[in-house]
Amino acid sequence: MIGEKSGQCKICKKSGHTEWHHIISQHHAMRTGQTSLLHNPDNVIELCRRCHKQTTASMVRKRLTKIHGPLVRTVRKRLTPEEKRAAKLKLKRDREKLVTDSLEEMSDRGVALPRISIGPRRTMNRFYTRNQKFDDSSEIQIKSLYPPDHWLHSPPDYSPTLSKRFERDWLWTAGGGAMSKDRYKPEIIEQLFESRPGISYPRAFRMAWKMSVREAN
Ligand SMILES: [Zn+2]
Repeated sequence: MIGEKSGQCKICKKSGHTEWHHIISQHHAMRTGQTSLLHNPDNVIELCRRCHKQTTASMVRKRLTKIHGPLVRTVRKRLTPEEKRAAKLKLKRDREKLVTDSLEEMSDRGVALPRISIGPRRTMNRFYTRNQKFDDSSEIQIKSLYPPDHWLHSPPDYSPTLSKRFERDWLWTAGGGAMSKDRYKPEIIEQLFESRPGISYPRAFRMAWKMSVREAN
């Protein structure tokens, strides 16, 4: 069996994403029934994409593909329009569930407001404005702030320190952004809900915000 990748290209020595290049090509191995060559560790070499694309096999494949179309056509079952629609709907539901579950979990931790929706761009614009005193605040990207239970969490970008610091002053919202805690007035919102049955949450929030600004002035 082919072993673990080292993450370094054998030709140019660059580290990062690598691929296995088969010295005796997979196509030839299949065609001639030598399937053991596919998994033989001595028949592969670890290359970065740039080097891999320049191997003879890859360049021949590209030339042939240009002339004849892809060598191996994947046969996929044709879906009826109903099946297509159902599949699309399921995908959408799955994605929505992911977001809802994540918001609920973060809300239990006390770091999210699921009923408010703010986008990442608006959030970071506010964040930069507020943190102007830190020269490097514009270098901070929201993807480094998403905690592990956020549906947009990205392990390679995640900074635990920045994320924890961020959650001290901000609350995650639907839409992938966050709201600064000093804008959140739970008591006023509570009162609005009591005095105006049926008021929507975003509307109550906006009213509470206006009232608290008036109070402050
Ligand atoms: Zn390389």
